[in-house]
Amino acid sequence: MKKTVLITGGAGFIGSWLCDLFHSRGFEVMVLDNLLTGNVKNIEHLFGRPGFVFLKHDVTNYIHVPGRLDYILHFASPASPIDYLELPIQTLKVGALGTHKVLGLAKEKNARLLLASTSEVYGDPLEHPQKESYWGNVNPIGPRGVYDEAKRFAEALTMAYHRYHGVETRIARIFNTYGPRMRLRDGRAVPNFINQALRGQKLTVYGNGMQTRSFCFVTDLVEGIFRLLTSEKPGIEEPVNLGNPEEMTLLELARRTIKMIPGKGKAGERIVFKPLPEDDPRVRKPDISRAKKLLGWKPVVSAEEGLKRTISYFSEQFAQEAKSGSSGRKSGIRNK
Ligand code: UDP
Repeated sequence: MKKTVLITGGAGFIGSWLCDLFHSRGFEVMVLDNLLTGNVKNIEHLFGRPGFVFLKHDVTNYIHVPGRLDYILHFASPASPIDYLELPIQTLKVGALGTHKVLGLAKEKNARLLLASTSEVYGDPLEHPQKESYWGNVNPIGPRGVYDEAKRFAEALTMAYHRYHGVETRIARIFNTYGPRMRLRDGRAVPNFINQALRGQKLTVYGNGMQTRSFCFVTDLVEGIFRLLTSEKPGIEEPVNLGNPEEMTLLELARRTIKMIPGKGKAGERIVFKPLPEDDPRVRKPDISRAKKLLGWKPVVSAEEGLKRTISYFSEQFAQEAKSGSSGRKSGIRNK
């Protein structure tokens, strides 16, 4: 009998890649998404296929799912710093109330649940690289607090359901991930830089660009999620970092993007510096020894290859937009 997986946020960037992966590996896939930041375009190629169901639903409300359920992947949440500034209450609600609802459903169905947590639980880290044992440095009342604290609460709630109700749980701490199906107006560094370069605009580097991130291509990430969900290793309920440990400064990312998308002017002339957002972490890099040991997982897609594939996706979106005559303002860049 086919295993059944429910994916909340399945119409979003990472969620839709998970739909493809699980469906292609023979799972029945059911998506719950309220389409606040997700888009049905990301999954419409799966519509009408046997074993795929989409339900428009806000997971902060009671969830009823008929029949058997083996796995739940809780990926519903705004995930770009710009989104949590615009949607602070929804971000808190889906991390807190939504996680409560899906854990209740997992208990009811005897299903295993994987929580999409985040490197943001480490805040502006005082330990580098970040290991799962690090408790973090988060400002609870800053603009990013709505996401960081919701995810920290979600982790606490997940462990409580595991310990007190015996629900089988997994917690993935996901570091910066990029790739096709990110929104043009997502606002995060990779889509912003690529879209700015494609439009012949200057790339907006915040601060002096010396802050670092470690970017993981989405196909690597979803393979890690699959392995974490299906692993039965002792201690697997404790959080596992998933990300690419190749660290770079944001200025370096901007320069790489410029090199891959030719335009007018020297590299330096194609960059404009803007103020650093409040509480922007200065460094971020995962220690992935736990994932390597428990899951035999590490990223395999290089930054070069990942950026190439992402640029090609955005170029297509850009061409379609130009053809349909929609303005760059409507679907262009979102700065702070
Ligand atoms: N950033 C930037 N220019 C942009 C968008 C983001 O310099 O147009 C910086 C941002 O300040 C941060 C890093 O890129 O230091 C990563 O930001 P992103 O929004 O992608 O995600 P975060 O890692 O902060 O959650």
